[in-house]
Amino acid sequence: MTAEPLMRMRLRVEQDIFVVRQLGREVARAVGLESQDQTRMATALSEVGRVLLASGRDTDVAFSIEPIGVPTLLVTMAQPGAGTAIRLAGQLQLVGRLVDTMEVDDGSSGTVVRMARRLPSGAPRLTPDRMDEIRDGLTQHVPGTPLDELAVQNQQLITALDEVRAQRDDLARLNAELEETNRGVMALYNQLSQELEETNRGVVALYAELDEKSAQLRAASEAKSRFLANVSHELRAPVTAIIGLGRLLTDSGSDELTSEQARQVDLIRTSASDLLTLVNDLLDLAKAEAGRIEPNWSEVDLKAMFGQLRGTLRPMVTRPEVELVVDEPTLPVLRSDEVLLAQVLRNLLTNALKFTETGSVRLSVRPIDGDAEFVVADTGTGIPPELQERIFEEFYQVPGSKPVSGKGTGLGLPYARRLAGILGGGLRVDSAPGEGSTFTLRLPITS
Ligand code: ADP
Repeated sequence: MTAEPLMRMRLRVEQDIFVVRQLGREVARAVGLESQDQTRMATALSEVGRVLLASGRDTDVAFSIEPIGVPTLLVTMAQPGAGTAIRLAGQLQLVGRLVDTMEVDDGSSGTVVRMARRLPSGAPRLTPDRMDEIRDGLTQHVPGTPLDELAVQNQQLITALDEVRAQRDDLARLNAELEETNRGVMALYNQLSQELEETNRGVVALYAELDEKSAQLRAASEAKSRFLANVSHELRAPVTAIIGLGRLLTDSGSDELTSEQARQVDLIRTSASDLLTLVNDLLDLAKAEAGRIEPNWSEVDLKAMFGQLRGTLRPMVTRPEVELVVDEPTLPVLRSDEVLLAQVLRNLLTNALKFTETGSVRLSVRPIDGDAEFVVADTGTGIPPELQERIFEEFYQVPGSKPVSGKGTGLGLPYARRLAGILGGGLRVDSAPGEGSTFTLRLPITS
């Protein structure tokens, strides 16, 4: 036990309860406990003393200081005769709340009640000199009469009542403040909810407007496709008629034309042919855009298709400086639409031949990651990087690019990309101006 003893006394008769009460208060004051804690300690001691004395046995009271850690005032009240601890603990439950800790034990020499109260951090230091001084003071303490003690208790009661009233007033003031704050918070909350609701309404309205706008856009795009399809369809018949009539006029069975007339009729025929190409391209694209192209899935024999392309495109190679190479396919079959696939490849090969002055145009295919990759590579003019996406827009042609032979409508690539999508794949280009272009069509091998 490291505790340093302060003083001891013995409770024998009822009168001693007053003495222990006074001493308790005195010790508490001397070691630096505050006024209210002094009263708490004194009350606890007199209560425990009263309960212990009721058993009729004497009780030893010892005050000491535990200096280690937070300095603590310890009070031990011991009584011979064991077996009463549990009952006592029950009786002293409320009293225990007046101190920091209270323990009731049955020991070999009897029942012991231990109470502890920590000293406040501002209390004067308990040096050995100070401890001696306190001990001296306590030995000289002259106990007052019960009447004196009654007066002291009354005084304490009045002080306690005053404090209670002050605390109640404080509480009332705090409550009022809290109520005020609550009202403020509620007002703020209401305002925020209102603002949130308004914002929400705005967002909902905005979404409705957006929906409406995209529906309008969809309708406009559908109308455009319908218009293109109808107009090109309607134009096809008269344009074909013009071409036929032109042919009739220059036919050997017709009346002889002057050379000037023959030249003009030829002009009409080529213009009409160009127009027919444009009308046909427009019709194809409009059909693809309107989702009116349903692929006809089947096993496509690539070897046969490549052979056919080789044959039909060879006549287009008009310059000896350009070589058309169609590699043997390393992938024998593919599940796709034969007509649409051939259309895309023909389109890419025609473009390559149109924009290549010397070198080669090469078609090949290879399997990659479960897909088929068709590559059309040329050594032609190439396409500037910033225009490589634009060439897939309708009617877009690279400014200044002049085809080596033939003409164009600017509809071939957008159509080819549409078809690639319809076949479940995609079309992209890599190109370096002056070096050539590579168009890659990637399609799934099994549809
Ligand atoms: P066009 O009927 O004009 O060929 P496309 O849509 O097929 O229309 O092509 C659009 C434009 O992209 C072409 O006018 C040309 O400027 C460019 N282009 C397409 N293919 C090639 C290529 N292989 N080499 C260089 N330029 C190309």
